[in-house]
Amino acid sequence: MPAPTVIIDLEKIEHNARFLTELCAGQGIEIVGVSKSVWGSVEISTAILNGGVSGLAESRLENIRKLRAAGFAVPLWLLRLPALSEVEPVVQLADISLNSELAVIGALSETALVQGKKHKIILMVDLGDLREGILPEDLFFFVEKILECPGVELVGLGTNLSCYGGVIPTEENLGRLVSYARQIEKRYHLRLRYISGGNSSSLPLLMAKKMPEGINHLRLGESILLGRETIGHSALDGVYQDAFFLEAEIIEKKRKASIPTGEIGEDAFGDIPVFEEKGEIERAIVGIGRADIDIAGIVPVDPGIFVLGASSDHLLLDITAARKFETGDVLRFSLNYSSLLRVMLSPSVTKKWQKSGEVDSYSQC
Ligand SMILES: *Cc1c(COP(=O)(O)O)cnc(C)c1O
Repeated sequence: MPAPTVIIDLEKIEHNARFLTELCAGQGIEIVGVSKSVWGSVEISTAILNGGVSGLAESRLENIRKLRAAGFAVPLWLLRLPALSEVEPVVQLADISLNSELAVIGALSETALVQGKKHKIILMVDLGDLREGILPEDLFFFVEKILECPGVELVGLGTNLSCYGGVIPTEENLGRLVSYARQIEKRYHLRLRYISGGNSSSLPLLMAKKMPEGINHLRLGESILLGRETIGHSALDGVYQDAFFLEAEIIEKKRKASIPTGEIGEDAFGDIPVFEEKGEIERAIVGIGRADIDIAGIVPVDPGIFVLGASSDHLLLDITAARKFETGDVLRFSLNYSSLLRVMLSPSVTKKWQKSGEVDSYSQC
């Protein structure tokens, strides 16, 4: 088996998508599946879609292009605000985009007219997290300007929380989003199809049955792929946390000191390393490194293994307390979101698809 390898269980992903879609549907909420952390993988997007989500959402145009080429018959959402310089491919490839800048919305409108289309937009409102979105006091001004753009259709309001500022979705802040939407509908005699109340960090509120009435849409990535909400990253009931595993091979195993010998300068990344004196320990080097993983975001599955550190291509482990391993043995690791992102992008990591416990095929995403 070529190592390192990420093993992807498509049935678990499909199950997670289905479970969360049904859970949300029970509260009148529609889901789009976010595949950005797996770089628009067509296999994984197919599994998410089989779970019943109403659309697929991506941050990057090149990934939307992949999804478009795969011919999925659902709306494709662009999550990251479109750049002014990319409005043409945005209109061509995405059905809906999230927006907050009038210059871009105007350009999308003109481009859509040229392409003989109407481009759907969600107006993003910043409820305090300080990532994307207009300020609430500018809402009417923006809506009026958007309604003057014949090439775009305002289909909803959206917000994004707990991404930059860590602001937790609440009845209060999401309630405000619903109230803004209702005010717009009344004032401009229109209907907003979507009130999009955020990402996986909104699930705890939904599970506590405290989601404000009127929120009818969520954009879910991490909860579908890794089975976790994103406020405290705790495991969600009813979904799998282990749809992804990384396997990598031990390329050296030796008993060595726990503290380096010699004068200590900076390591390969400019940090001064610190070490704990534990006497001689069993050390293993695994053939994967910071180029492929976020070392804070991998957890060895076998008990008694501790991550000591990593350089670009080498991962160092203390295996003293673990069962016996030899050079050539393959170790398993679970992945967090940022490691998943890197692993899926790394050309050195083989992707292996698995269904119902059986290995299906190898491929690069
Ligand atoms: C990434 C992203 C999501 C999905 O976030 P998860 O925490 O993975 O569910 C939703 N909306 C926007 C705008 C995003 O950028």
